[in-house]
Amino acid sequence: MRDEVALNTLSPVRGNIIDGTAIAERVQSEVRAEVLRLRAQGITPGLSVVLVGDDPASAVYVRSKEATSRELGMAGETIRLPATTTQSELIEIVDRLNASDAVHGILVQMPVPRQIDADVIIRRLRPEKDVDGFHPVNVGKLLIGETDGFVPCTPAGIQYMLEACEVETRGAECVVVGRSNIVGKPMAALMMQSGPFADATVTVCHSRTRDLAAHTRRADILIVAAGRPQMITTDMVKRGAVVIDVGTNRIADATKKSGTRLVGDVDFDRVREIASLITPVPGGVGKMTIAMLMRNTVRAAARAAR
Ligand code: NAP
Repeated sequence: MRDEVALNTLSPVRGNIIDGTAIAERVQSEVRAEVLRLRAQGITPGLSVVLVGDDPASAVYVRSKEATSRELGMAGETIRLPATTTQSELIEIVDRLNASDAVHGILVQMPVPRQIDADVIIRRLRPEKDVDGFHPVNVGKLLIGETDGFVPCTPAGIQYMLEACEVETRGAECVVVGRSNIVGKPMAALMMQSGPFADATVTVCHSRTRDLAAHTRRADILIVAAGRPQMITTDMVKRGAVVIDVGTNRIADATKKSGTRLVGDVDFDRVREIASLITPVPGGVGKMTIAMLMRNTVRAAARAAR
């Protein structure tokens, strides 16, 4: 039996490095307690993950989601479908999961094969079961500031990290690099809301931004989700900034057995010298994403029980 008290007191930082593993453990211990509470009421939170095709990276993510949900005492299944699955076949499965009382959260692993329109599938999910937070209803709720929707897991995890590290966000200059629907846009929307661990002044940069460094250098909180290995160098960062690196990029490294290693979008070894806090890759944001998915699923189950 894990010692929940000890987990909750794990330090969220080591030196100036944010420990994503320790913070994710904290989220998971909260989720585990909530699962126990719901199970005592006869409700077992259930997460169904749908994987279409055999993309190796997606298979790894899905296995990890499956293992974590099981480890936290949740129910659920992974539905593995061939790469040739048609859109209407996938819709049929989504409809079945939408209708099942045992399923509280549904996640269709992206990307889906070409013949399937991801937007159609996302819109088909019942918003109350869309634990990824990609359905337009949940996107809208986030923007409006309604808190009964689901926030996409990576930005939600980053906000949780900022809270765990007691970062002052109110009035802070927050610069987000990247404007994807899964990271950049929802991240910006979260940080600009009024309320705790938000209230920031937000700038969003992208590939068409003129003079990126002029923006990033102003940031008290710099959140980078561009998918460009080590693009953020020390000259682009203000001394004392909090730097959150979402990027996960594989680059060649002859010293590794695999011939590659994982790096973020930030030149970690140099930027850590001037940042007040920084997330590593791996061991930073990535650890939070699955933990927040589990949190969204228990929330979906608790809401369904009301
Ligand atoms: P994405 O959909 O490819 O979006 C990348 C964004 O970065 C785009 O908005 C793009 O601008 C912008 N960008 C690209 N190059 C740029 C440059 N040189 N200067 C300024 N902006 C630039 O990627 P994503 O899905 O948001 O993911 C971003 C990274 O985070 C990837 O490495 C991904 O693997 C990683 N990720 C990690 C997690 C995790 O849990 N750790 C979760 C999600 C994503 P345009 O819009 O103009 O093209």
